[in-house]
Amino acid sequence: MITPNEHKAIEAEQVKAYFNDANYLNLSGFAVFALLVVVVHEETPNWIWAPALAVLFLITLYRAYLIWQYHRAPERRTSTQWSNSQALTGGSAGVCWGLANTAMLAHLPVKYQLFVLTVSGVVAAASASEGFSLAQPPRVFTIASLTPPAIFLFTVGNQLHTVLGVMLLLLIPITIALGNKKNLIFTEVLRLRFHNEFLVTELSRQHELLEAASKSKSRFLAAASHDLRQPLAALILFLEQLELEQQLSPKGRGVLAHALLSTSSLSSLLDGLLDISRLDGHAIKPKIRPFPIQKLFDELEEEFCPLASNKGLRLRFAPCSSIVESDIILAEQILRNLISNAIRYTHSGRILVGCRHRYGMLSIEVHDTGIGIAEDQFPKIFDEFYQVDNSERDRQQGLGLGLSIVDRAARLLGHSVTLTSQLGKGSAFIVTLPLANPGEVVEQAVTGVAPEAPELAGRLIAFIENEGNIRVGISDLLQSWGCRVVVADSAATMLEQLEAMDDAVEMVISDFGLSRSINGVEAIAVIRRRWGERLPALLFTGDISKETYMLARDADLPILYKPAKAEALREAITTALESGKLQEVRE
Ligand code: ADP
Repeated sequence: MITPNEHKAIEAEQVKAYFNDANYLNLSGFAVFALLVVVVHEETPNWIWAPALAVLFLITLYRAYLIWQYHRAPERRTSTQWSNSQALTGGSAGVCWGLANTAMLAHLPVKYQLFVLTVSGVVAAASASEGFSLAQPPRVFTIASLTPPAIFLFTVGNQLHTVLGVMLLLLIPITIALGNKKNLIFTEVLRLRFHNEFLVTELSRQHELLEAASKSKSRFLAAASHDLRQPLAALILFLEQLELEQQLSPKGRGVLAHALLSTSSLSSLLDGLLDISRLDGHAIKPKIRPFPIQKLFDELEEEFCPLASNKGLRLRFAPCSSIVESDIILAEQILRNLISNAIRYTHSGRILVGCRHRYGMLSIEVHDTGIGIAEDQFPKIFDEFYQVDNSERDRQQGLGLGLSIVDRAARLLGHSVTLTSQLGKGSAFIVTLPLANPGEVVEQAVTGVAPEAPELAGRLIAFIENEGNIRVGISDLLQSWGCRVVVADSAATMLEQLEAMDDAVEMVISDFGLSRSINGVEAIAVIRRRWGERLPALLFTGDISKETYMLARDADLPILYKPAKAEALREAITTALESGKLQEVRE
């Protein structure tokens, strides 16, 4: 269906195409008539050809003027008016041709008659063939120029002229049909072009809307999860400290265990949202390097074997000596999600993780003998929060984020994830990644003396945090590990306190959103400026925005997101202290 707007646009394009060639058609038409007169003028009286030549010359001039006007200001008339002007002048030229030729034919011997008829036929056919962009002008010219001579031929009364008359009459519809056909093809091409242009505009509009929706979703996720992370971080710390309390009654311990379970599922939901918002916001820049896949397998085996055997499942990793090109952290995250799903959705039998070489790539396959997935669910399970058969949203059955993280991470890395599954029999998730040359592995180990894991007891740690609850919670936690802690709500107060002490500070931990004038990255820089640029530091924040991530990355600062478990905080502190020690060893 052509809409009125599309119709107008098509008509305008047809007029434009016609007027682009119109001058050449117009002038060559007149030139052919003039040549024809040159050939026959001695055989025909002057009163026939002379006025015809003059009239045709005037029409040609007027048409040239119209064409010039169109090129100067096409908007002065509508497309229909321009088209009608050509039909009218084309028709007048046709009448002039037709009448002049007919009058000349009556005075010409047969061989000249044949010449004039041939030229007339060729000119009509050429006008239909070349001026096809508009259907009307060539149609009118053909009818007007060929009908009078055809009628004349029938009036002569001999066989030759009658046959010629029939041929000329037949030529009229054939020429018109040829012009119509070309015109229809041209119109269809234009219609498709406008339709495609419309589709492209509509598609980019939809794309912009989607982008905007996705950006506002990511902003909402980041803001909501930041506001939830802060209090949750404090809650986890307090509950973990309560757990160490000896005097709790058995009932109190039971309630505490439930409270810990609930905070842990809230915390993993926030972690999932964090991963999704960072992957969506391109806050994660993959570091593609060659690494041996066996290294990942060893770590995952150690992590998941106890979980599988607790459920009575056999989990086996087939040894693999291949080296792949990928980001080891994201690749591990993909496999971790696939393996934990395999364990979660398998009630008996086994899980096998192995590799296969395919067309120069490596496919890592996670097979299970679990409940399987119906084929119509295949695309849906990669959507956020989509779970098969968990309409009551039991958190123990997962959150529905694992596969959407797998999908996003794989897309970011350019790896493909495929799935085969049969309900009741099991599933196989296959991740395909590029192989690297064995020689390319970069040895991460540092030559020289490997530093020992640093001891936390006695360490002087500066902790900058503007939220009272978290300041108290973290400070208590650090003290419970034997650290000496200095807390402050700003970099300036922290500097004052540290100056007043005899000992040198050994590490600084800071929240990001401290005050309007200075953020955590800047606060750490202030402390480092006074206590050494190599001072181990950690940004401990609930702000998961891309901007914060970028600021920390540019300053080469490790980030730990709130809420974090005590264990994770301890590990982050140890790692930061270790890397400080490593730098000393290198220097
Ligand atoms: P969840 O946290 O629910 O596991 P995922 O996004 O990881 O969320 O998975 C989405 C859904 O896909 C799950 O609810 C489950 O129904 C299905 N699924 C994923 N992996 C498997 C598997 N190995 N076997 C059977 N079903 C699976």
